[in-house]
Amino acid sequence: MKTLRVAIDPWNPDPVVLEKAVAILRRGGLVAFPTETVYGLGADALNPEAVRGVYRAKGRPSDNPLILHLSRREMAEELAFPDARSRRLMDALWPGPLTLVLPARSVVPGVTRGGLDTAALRMPDHPVAAALIETAGFPLAAPSANVSGRPSPTDADGVWEDLEGRIDMILDAGPVSVGIESTVVDMTADPPLLLRPGGMSREVLEGFLGVALAQPDNVSRRRSPGTRYRHYAPFVPVWIWREGAPLPDGAASEKCGFMGLVPPPGVFGRSLRFDSVENYARGLFSGFRALEAAGLQGIVVQWPPSGGVGLGLRDRIRRAAQAGS
Ligand code: AMP
Ligand code: MG
Repeated sequence: MKTLRVAIDPWNPDPVVLEKAVAILRRGGLVAFPTETVYGLGADALNPEAVRGVYRAKGRPSDNPLILHLSRREMAEELAFPDARSRRLMDALWPGPLTLVLPARSVVPGVTRGGLDTAALRMPDHPVAAALIETAGFPLAAPSANVSGRPSPTDADGVWEDLEGRIDMILDAGPVSVGIESTVVDMTADPPLLLRPGGMSREVLEGFLGVALAQPDNVSRRRSPGTRYRHYAPFVPVWIWREGAPLPDGAASEKCGFMGLVPPPGVFGRSLRFDSVENYARGLFSGFRALEAAGLQGIVVQWPPSGGVGLGLRDRIRRAAQAGS
């Protein structure tokens, strides 16, 4: 398959390009597009054959359900049964990096839901994503546009690297702003369950809800199959470094790279320093890809503080380090 890569202005998306992308989606094809979190691999969420194509292209286990991306708040009512709390969150925090797991309506195909009776919904805060979904008129199932297990792509080069020849089209609108995936909250639980920390901070959510979010245990974790899988890993080992702690054996050398806020003493082949936790989150996945491409044999990553996007950043770092070991 030939993959078409088309540049699109994020602030003023060309309707001709959007129509072309939608024509592909209508016939069940796959289009990668930017959101504020990471690039998504989009398919018509209501077309089971198209959705099967997403799992195939990514090599994603078929019991790991997909998030449905919407362009209007009303679409949520057509796809799921939100309760009053969920409606308040949607009204206040959408569009944004927040995914709500809700009881699904039967229009959502089983394959999109990974066989569960719930559907995960989100409204992305990116003009290209919004215009694409609005032009299509149907929700897009859109996991990150990478091969399963690899770091999520935060620009079109990352998508190309993983999926060239396996998907129909990539809409290239430059790098994303958040850099890690959405926060996933299971609203069918009481109190709601934080299934995956991400771009929307826990503090903001708890402020709106007026209760503390529950943490998944081993039983509830089964309700979000994605949290079981290895994820986000470059091909080279990733070591976590906590400020003040000694470096892991062999980690400080010109053969290794560093990513974080303040580098430890020692010599690294390359260092990517970020001046805030937000910028660290924005640069994590592209940093993994860049350091790996630079031929380094390992990457030392600093453990960030847990506030704001730091909790989601910690989660991605932990999984990348596990997968590498
Ligand atoms: P990704 O698309 O790779 O960002 O992953 C989506 C995340 O949302 C995964 O962790 C999924 O397991 C989770 N998810 C999607 N749909 C549901 C659902 N219906 N119930 C629980 N978790 C879900
Ligand atoms: Mg993903």
